Amino acid sequence: MFTTPKPSDSLPDRSIYERRESIVRSYARSMPRQFNRAEGVWMHDDQGGRYLDFLSGCSTLNYGHNHPILKQALLDYIAADGIAHGLDLHTDAKQAFLDTFEQVILKPRDLDYRVMFTGPTGTNAVEAAIKLARKVTGREMVIAFTNGFHGMTLGALACTGNATKRGGAGVPLSHVSHEPYDGYYGPDVDTADLLEQRLADPSSGLDAPAAILVETVQGEGGLNAASPEWLRRIAEIAKAHGALLIVDDIQAGCGRTGNFFSFEDMGFTPDIVTMAKSLSGMGLPFALTLLKPEHDQWLPGEHNGTFRGNNHAFVTATAALRHFWSTDGFAADVRRRSDLLGSRLQRIADTYGFGMRGRGMMRGINVESGDLASAVTSACFDDGLIIETSGAHDEVIKVLAPLVIDDAVLSAGLDILETRIRDAMGADHAANQAIAAE
Ligand SMILES: *Cc1c(COP(=O)(O)O)cnc(C)c1O
Repeated sequence: MFTTPKPSDSLPDRSIYERRESIVRSYARSMPRQFNRAEGVWMHDDQGGRYLDFLSGCSTLNYGHNHPILKQALLDYIAADGIAHGLDLHTDAKQAFLDTFEQVILKPRDLDYRVMFTGPTGTNAVEAAIKLARKVTGREMVIAFTNGFHGMTLGALACTGNATKRGGAGVPLSHVSHEPYDGYYGPDVDTADLLEQRLADPSSGLDAPAAILVETVQGEGGLNAASPEWLRRIAEIAKAHGALLIVDDIQAGCGRTGNFFSFEDMGFTPDIVTMAKSLSGMGLPFALTLLKPEHDQWLPGEHNGTFRGNNHAFVTATAALRHFWSTDGFAADVRRRSDLLGSRLQRIADTYGFGMRGRGMMRGINVESGDLASAVTSACFDDGLIIETSGAHDEVIKVLAPLVIDDAVLSAGLDILETRIRDAMGADHAANQAIAAE
């Protein structure tokens, strides 16, 4: 099933990357191959190697690479000279997307949101969300959470926890307080109580917030999954203190946790939701910010961007909504597959006393060491499995397989992961025993 030829002496010259591409490149370092083709759950390199994709562009390819129905919709649209770029003008593609989003996503869930097309990246949707919350409330401070990840532009970066990413800002990142996420102090401390206490105490030093910004599962921050009870409390606290609740569903949304939105059936409705990554369904850049109509207090053009609404992405997103979300079949299948993934990962984790993290098809194993995690993921890559890490110390091996993956292929990928963890732990165990014996 997997073929990964060793790089040979006859490899084409790749020195252009060293010579011309900025040092800032990152994923290419842990996967030093040249990829040239992908379909479904597979990626191919130019040396005949085939790789199973357990990263899915960090959950940007929930429906796999080049899904035939999405691809055909885009090919047809381009062949008919459909509008590729039109600023935010009305286009057939935009109307079809909005109609479909209303019919397939909003109405069946009884959700009443306006759709704001932001610039095409997730961070832009977050910028728009926090700008709007500040405008609506007249307040400046935003509450975000430990280990949260919200993007790289200054406003979103201020809400992000990771010190390395924050360090890139070069200016103070302000007007955000990072409060402990669910479980941050272990199972015995309810961090929603702590937040409530601080907000209720006029002498706590915590200013009244414009917004509380939260991921239901922290995609980059270690796959910490908040409990529905905790999230409900956070929603109540936001309401009680006049703050807007923003759910950043950029990574956890679009089916990753088994529903279109990651907060469905939890008994609260966010004021604002940010979406990107798998929204276009085909890896095309496309982001949006959903807002309750009463908060739609923008002036025309007040948040702007040349690429607001990417018409090619409208086309593929519309095709994805129609194909995957018109009925409950796909979501039910994802939930069933999530249980399979969960029980396999739990078993592997239990073998070594590790913890499983996450929810739905967004799960991982906390191996408690970044070095161990990267040794395992690079060994997996040698076996033809693309898999990455997450967390404050990159200590969580995360499985973000495409949601459309076959059960058998999922199992085959997990076999590789299991074997490579066993190998790595075996070496560790041997070393520990040797030390103990001295
Ligand atoms: C990826 C991500 C972002 C940022 O999206 P970009 O498209 O990289 O700007 C924001 N929030 C979450 C939760 C993400 O996973």
